[in-house]
Amino acid sequence: MKYQPRHDVAGSRVEDGPLVRLDGVTKSYGSGETEVDALRGIDLSVVAGQFIVVLGPSGSGKTTLMNLVGGIESPTAGAITVAGHDLASADDTALTEYRRTQLGFVFQFFNLIPTLTALENVALVAELVGAPEERARAALDAVGLGERADHFPSALSGGEQQRVAIARALVKDPPLLLADEPTGSLDLDTGRQVLAALHRACRDGGRTVLLVTHNSAIAAMADRVLRLGSGSLVDDEVVAHPVPPEEVHW
Ligand code: ADP
Ligand code: MG
Repeated sequence: MKYQPRHDVAGSRVEDGPLVRLDGVTKSYGSGETEVDALRGIDLSVVAGQFIVVLGPSGSGKTTLMNLVGGIESPTAGAITVAGHDLASADDTALTEYRRTQLGFVFQFFNLIPTLTALENVALVAELVGAPEERARAALDAVGLGERADHFPSALSGGEQQRVAIARALVKDPPLLLADEPTGSLDLDTGRQVLAALHRACRDGGRTVLLVTHNSAIAAMADRVLRLGSGSLVDDEVVAHPVPPEEVHW
């Protein structure tokens, strides 16, 4: 499965500009004495096709950033544009459509439906987005699990379950994959297999991957590494020679 660049109504390629753009984005929770500033003025521009790792300690705002780019929450101030979608001013219907068509989500916990096989878990999402059913099998093949298609989640390792979750994200054929601590509950070996599957989605599938983690070892495979500290971007580094996921070590 290879992601084909989409064209906007004017016919110009959305990919010609940044895929993701944040301008002065802040996010606060609560009010008064209990107000927490989870993000404090983020400016960020991400071009399509890169594997981007966002590092930061617990509480630095990583999940908040993912939820904003993912259209799950709205910013307190600032502008967010993803693939031509203006998220800050979008209503619920527009955000739902945006999440459905533009995004694949991968979380720390795999959230597979235990009573459905691997293939059925992926096919369910294919059906929800109106994708052809064959795409579910192709997505499982793409993460190296074609032979496990008829297994239930309980018969799969944690790494295999996470790869089913990646297949479920890929079946929508989204330009952007958001991964929040995708290896957070995996050991090194299975974690690498998950990183390899995400890496292939980027390199072979032409997708943009935004991965947030507190595990700084994963930065070695990135094209670009961003660091968050207390809700601010404190570093932005281009990696000249990213290592293959098989060589990531922690
Ligand atoms: P990370 O993913 O880097 O651990 P988060 O984005 O989850 O960080 O959280 C950033 C800050 O925002 C933390 O101080 C956290 O307690 C706070 N926060 C996150 N979500 C909420 C929420 N729904 N309500 C109140 N505070 C929140
Ligand atoms: Mg988090």
